[in-house]
Amino acid sequence: MASLVLVLYKAALNVLYYSGLYKLLSPATRGEGIIFTLHQINNDPVEDFSPNSILRVTPEFLESTIQTVKAEGYDIISLDELHDRLKTGNKSNKPYAVFTADDGYKDNRDLALPVLKKHNVPLAIYIVSDYSNHQGELWWFALEDIIKNSSAIQNPYNKGEVLEAVTTEQKFRAFDKIYWPMRRSNQHEQRATIREMAKAHDYDIDALSKNLVMNWEELRELNKEPLITLAAHTKSHFAIATLSEEEADEQIKIGMDIMEKELGEKATHFSFPYGSNCAANKRDFELVKKFGFKTAVTTRKAVLYKEHKDHMMALPRVSLNGEYQHQRYIKTFLSGLPFRLKNKWQKLDVE
Ligand SMILES: [Zn+2]
Repeated sequence: MASLVLVLYKAALNVLYYSGLYKLLSPATRGEGIIFTLHQINNDPVEDFSPNSILRVTPEFLESTIQTVKAEGYDIISLDELHDRLKTGNKSNKPYAVFTADDGYKDNRDLALPVLKKHNVPLAIYIVSDYSNHQGELWWFALEDIIKNSSAIQNPYNKGEVLEAVTTEQKFRAFDKIYWPMRRSNQHEQRATIREMAKAHDYDIDALSKNLVMNWEELRELNKEPLITLAAHTKSHFAIATLSEEEADEQIKIGMDIMEKELGEKATHFSFPYGSNCAANKRDFELVKKFGFKTAVTTRKAVLYKEHKDHMMALPRVSLNGEYQHQRYIKTFLSGLPFRLKNKWQKLDVE
């Protein structure tokens, strides 16, 4: 998705890298460590119109990232160890990196796990109980597929408007026009709307979770792997900040309870769906405390500083994004510098 913002952001990252600034300032800005976010890890071809490919990296890129992180002197540790190091101080004199993956995609097991085992790298996978029940709506994939296979789309947010979707450019335009209103809308309406669209286009939305996400039996098997931590990601993948406190609570609790029933153990780590400022905020960081999680992660971009020890329910992460599959970006991310620049030099973004 070659949006202008992305082009500018990449250009800025390249300036920090090629000027050597990232390296110069790294001792002051890199902090304690970093948590990486993954989603899908596979070699599926990136077609001209694949707006969700930003959520996908190749197993080869994962492997070279692990190698870069190690070569830069980082310990790669589990979420439990991150919790201990943040809480009681990092006794190792090395910074640390943690790998996490959201939503429970089958390719995490099939294509990432062999790489992780080869390098002895732990991975936390955040599970959405509806998706692992093979229910619910992976609406962003459905929207992409529906637009990919259509030449015209009714805009559900502007009734009467028909969006042409013949060329790749038109498809991107249609996607952008629907994606953001859909993401921000009332979460129940969001799911009803994507189901209506699926019906109108004869698209099987229920096949998505079945095809892409691990079920409980598969998760029980995967949970035997010592490198894997299964963690909670709510019941239905709703943006928590958009819900009433009561419903937010229920989404987290039901997701946890189903996980505990299916896996025979309580989840001790949590990830906010979407995790952006609009999807998880101060109220929600307070709200998750009562569930007893050791950590809760967002997708607010930053590295970890000692000060995060008082904000364990609002930890930042850095996405391993399909658009940034080059090791120079990883080195620049590790320095923490791009995020300090973006956050007005603040270490913490926890409001
Ligand atoms: Zn997610």
